[in-house]
Amino acid sequence: MSVLSHPEYDDHELVAFHRDPASGLRAIIAIHDTTLGRGLGGCRVYPYGSEALAITDALRLSRGMTYKAALAGLKQGGGKAVVMADPRRDKTPAMMQAMGKFVQSLGGRYVIAEDSGTDEADMHEVAKQTAFIGGGAAPLNPDDPGDRDTSAATALGIFFGIQAAVRFKLGRDDLKDLRVSIQGVGKVGKVLARHLHEAGAKLFVCDAHAPAVEDCVRRYGATAIDATELFELEVDVFSPCALGAILNDDSVPRLRATIIAGAANNQLAEPRQGKALLERGVLYAPDYAINAGGIINLYYEGPTRRWADVESHLRRIGGTLTTIFERSHDEGRPTDVIADRLAEAIFRAPRGVA
Ligand code: NAD
Repeated sequence: MSVLSHPEYDDHELVAFHRDPASGLRAIIAIHDTTLGRGLGGCRVYPYGSEALAITDALRLSRGMTYKAALAGLKQGGGKAVVMADPRRDKTPAMMQAMGKFVQSLGGRYVIAEDSGTDEADMHEVAKQTAFIGGGAAPLNPDDPGDRDTSAATALGIFFGIQAAVRFKLGRDDLKDLRVSIQGVGKVGKVLARHLHEAGAKLFVCDAHAPAVEDCVRRYGATAIDATELFELEVDVFSPCALGAILNDDSVPRLRATIIAGAANNQLAEPRQGKALLERGVLYAPDYAINAGGIINLYYEGPTRRWADVESHLRRIGGTLTTIFERSHDEGRPTDVIADRLAEAIFRAPRGVA
């Protein structure tokens, strides 16, 4: 499989392959763009059915990190690592240490962090072999989740994003009695549910894992809904916090939400869904603009970290979204297209190619 002619290849600066027979590691690190800083991105461990699928994921996800970091105002580039292994069956400390050596060999152009299939214990092994690892500062006060707990910061960023969307679309400064549906009340969704409940919103939650729903019903007076009701339910805000490609040819025509604002990555199944949402008058908060809380949190690492700085940066997600919404409205172009153009202007400008 050729990388340079791959449809997801977007002038990535580096795509490196590594195999370590002793530990069984088979990994790819893709660095998309380091104009603004080192290429930071999580390490995903997943039993890819083929090398081609792993390459596709590494190329697509590393590019996404460049856009996300640029729009979040971070002096950081985009990278991503993928390990072809089943995280439950194949992953070992030796494999993660071998991954650390691979990261170290790139001399700091790529900075590794947690992602799906990796956790704190894995980063502990990686850190034995490389200094180029994101996060690790202890929580500094009771509000501070610590720089590696990305989900609490992601949820707070989503909450600020919802506030901005409600202000823009509904002309309201408060969320009292607002009807919000959440798909997926896992690590991010459940914290978002708490913020929304505290702000007075009425919650409708669905999750493939029943105890997660029951928890929200008990704690936040949420109404449990099932997957079949999700799209037809009339709500002010639909917050997808479970999986990608949720906005597709099947769901978009059925949607009865005014605003879509959630944590899931790659919510649009195809770019054309962004246009379809605009035409239906639905305000879509582009996923990578609203869900950047995790990398913002990670950015404030080390001894100078202050939670107040993290929180004020998270609030800027609302301002960025408002800019996107206004430009989308003025230019009649979908919000996801506007977000891409804004991000490109930020990371391409220093290279003189914006
Ligand atoms: P998680 O795995 O903790 O939670 C996801 C929840 O969705 C789980 O409770 C799961 O049971 C549920 N779910 C899965 N499939 C479902 C379905 N078909 N219908 C209803 N519920 C379903 O993950 P998370 O960390 O909360 O992340 C949620 C989403 O946000 C993911 O798409 C993730 O990629 C994205 N995201 C997370 C972060 C972060 O900081 N954790 C940052 C950016 C983006």
